[in-house]
Amino acid sequence: MTPTLLEQLAIPGFESMVDDAAYLYTRDSLHTMQVNVGRLCNLSCRHCHMEAGPGRTEVMDKPVMEACLLVLRKNRFDTLDITGGSPEMNPHFRYFVRQASEIAAHVMVRTNLVILLEPGYEDIPRLYRDLKLEVICSLPHYTAVNTDKMRGSSVFARSIEALRLLNGLGYGIDAELPLNLVFNPGGAFLPPQQRALERDFRTNLRREHGVEFTAMLALTNNPVGRFGEFLARSGNLEGYMGKLYSTFNTDTLEAMMCRGQVSVAHDGRLYDCDFNQAADLPLKSGETIFDWQNKPVQARRIRFGQHCYACTAGQGSSCGGATGQADPAS
Ligand code: SF4
Ligand code: SF4
Repeated sequence: MTPTLLEQLAIPGFESMVDDAAYLYTRDSLHTMQVNVGRLCNLSCRHCHMEAGPGRTEVMDKPVMEACLLVLRKNRFDTLDITGGSPEMNPHFRYFVRQASEIAAHVMVRTNLVILLEPGYEDIPRLYRDLKLEVICSLPHYTAVNTDKMRGSSVFARSIEALRLLNGLGYGIDAELPLNLVFNPGGAFLPPQQRALERDFRTNLRREHGVEFTAMLALTNNPVGRFGEFLARSGNLEGYMGKLYSTFNTDTLEAMMCRGQVSVAHDGRLYDCDFNQAADLPLKSGETIFDWQNKPVQARRIRFGQHCYACTAGQGSSCGGATGQADPAS
């Protein structure tokens, strides 16, 4: 999905909606380094903005990981957020999380759950527990029919099995072992209110499957990657973008995730966020993580595009879930 298609729609440029010039820049210090260790994945979900899947060959190598670790060590990031693809499929994943957890106060890993049941990955849940990593688990819905429609046959049943395995290790139960669930809408609509969604998921997962979790993160689907292709193919692109624009919520600007993070791609190139990776919009400076090894991290101008409306619609959206209160008018 090229941003050009989005730019052709009769919707004002995203930057024209930003009412305070400060929001066009990151904060002086960044709290999060997000590292995408590759696009290889055991699933090929319909909504995947990274277009990840079993056939992808982009995988972060050790020198890029070492550069990330060095930059982490030299700067005051609070959080390392590891994502993919399925991060566990990177051959250096275990090395990376072990090293990172000695440096960063808070390390989180985004997992699709079902990888934890695949042969060769049996040790991973215990590794997470031993290093006290936060796990962010994608689960599109609490029913099999809706989850399998987006992720593939029997994914829901296997996800429940993996959630029970994590619960058995204390995840989602022990306060030191947070297990958060990520929800994405199944189509061209905004997610429901995060708090109400969390109540529904908790009630249903507990009652039907005996599964516990810590918190729910509701994400708005970003119109890039596979989801963007789906919108264009199904004739929903204009309607979806119109919805994002009409529910634009100024209160979400302050907390846009790009204002406090940098996103590292598998090849070391730097982006403002994962969505900009998907849209092929690297930092304006063109820097890589290697360029940051010997200089302090500084505030920078953010590279916005029309896809950014997904972060500011309604209750707002980021990799950490909703970023603001829903606009009462929405
Ligand atoms: S959404 Fe997640 S689990 Fe699904 S294909 Fe993309 S990276 Fe893999
Ligand atoms: S898509 Fe990325 S750059 Fe755009 S507002 Fe969201 S986090 Fe910021």
